[in-house]
Amino acid sequence: MHSRTHYEQLDGSMQAAAVHIAAELVLASTPGARDTVISAATSLGVVIRLIDAPPGFVGQSRDAGAPSIDPGWLRRATPGPAYPPLATLAPVVHTHADVGGRFTVFAPASGARWRVFDLPATPSRPGIAAVAPLEQLDASLTTFGHVMVLSGVVGTFVTLVMAWWMAARLLRPVVSLTETAEEIARTRAFDRRVALPGAGGNAHHAQHAQHDELARLSSTFNRMLASLEQAYAGQQRFVADASHEIRAPLTAIIGNLELLTRSVPDAERAVALIEARREADRLARLVADLLTLARADARARVIRTDYVAMADVVSDALRDARHLLRGQVLSVDAIDHVVVTGDRDRMLQLLLILVDNAAKYTPAGGQLHIALRRVADGGRTAAALSVRDSGVGIAPEDLPYVFDRFFRSDRARAREPGGSGLGLGIAQWIVEQHRGTITVDSTLGVGTTVRILLPAVE
Ligand code: ADP
Repeated sequence: MHSRTHYEQLDGSMQAAAVHIAAELVLASTPGARDTVISAATSLGVVIRLIDAPPGFVGQSRDAGAPSIDPGWLRRATPGPAYPPLATLAPVVHTHADVGGRFTVFAPASGARWRVFDLPATPSRPGIAAVAPLEQLDASLTTFGHVMVLSGVVGTFVTLVMAWWMAARLLRPVVSLTETAEEIARTRAFDRRVALPGAGGNAHHAQHAQHDELARLSSTFNRMLASLEQAYAGQQRFVADASHEIRAPLTAIIGNLELLTRSVPDAERAVALIEARREADRLARLVADLLTLARADARARVIRTDYVAMADVVSDALRDARHLLRGQVLSVDAIDHVVVTGDRDRMLQLLLILVDNAAKYTPAGGQLHIALRRVADGGRTAAALSVRDSGVGIAPEDLPYVFDRFFRSDRARAREPGGSGLGLGIAQWIVEQHRGTITVDSTLGVGTTVRILLPAVE
């Protein structure tokens, strides 16, 4: 565009000069006057050559450098622009009126190019050719082209370097994140955390947005690490606790069996057998509980979804609970008709865990109460199940841990050494699988109430 504009501007001024000189020539009456007119063209930046001049026209402007134009060549030359073909793609910026002339380029084998405007003769004026040097314009446009290419190359290079530098800078937190993640994967050091990409002081605006995203990624990653760390520690604790719990009955069984190999009185043998059997039962229960929890952890779909009439479950629990009671009085405070969706066997298991606990931690003569009520919970129907006892209660400092696996209060250990500390953990899992909630209220020496709220069928 730059090239085309410049060449067309030159064409415009050449044409204007030629038309002006031709008009002046007609007015000039003497050869001397004509010579003056032609010479004056030099000040307009063009050299005038007379072509096909009628007799009486002699002069041509004095310019040693300009080529003399052969009329024969001028007639044969093909008209065309002075700018390179590529420039024809650029939009036209400069236009000049058509006065019936032709533009050509005179390019001698050696030396600079010349622009030639051929204004043919008419009855009222002689034919003239205006010649202007293209040397300077050509040179300046060539230089301009070189500068363009050079700045393009340099600019691209600088942009690439900058982009590379910026990318490396912006990706640094990602690189550190990756390295930390790799190291954690290798060493299992889940207690490690990645550094949050810091506010880089004079950081650029775009970098801020980038940092926000990276900060979010880092903090999400750290949260994930925290939960992994917790799960990993929990897993290790669980294995340790489980081994410990299994070892106690096993030791008792082995001890009793060893006793049987020796010669001991029959009465003692009988006691050893009963004890071994009781410990084996305890072991079987423990393993069954562990299996339930393992399935729960594996997220195995062990909960069926049927309609379960909770009143029937409570009746079944009352029947089974008779074996659990040791001198306590079990009564039912309320038993509404309410249906939940879920697994009937698990519901019974849940209720029995609670009644078993209530019986275990309540002395003979104490009170156990079961209540099943149909309630409205936030506009929806729910089944409210509660098991209350007048037992030893739970100390406030122990209350937050009762759902933890293998947790047993010291008071519970003293009272009922047979427990495993898994019951409430399983109860909580069953309730959660039914999208319900379970809470424990307790006062030391007064009693404990476990409340369960389950979404019910409308
Ligand atoms: P377990 O009863 O086998 O010890 P659980 O998980 O069922 O295990 O209960 C965990 C702990 O919560 C018990 O060891 C006991 O300290 C306390 N606990 C649970 N239910 C009661 C209750 N009804 N009265 C007093 N303490 C209870």
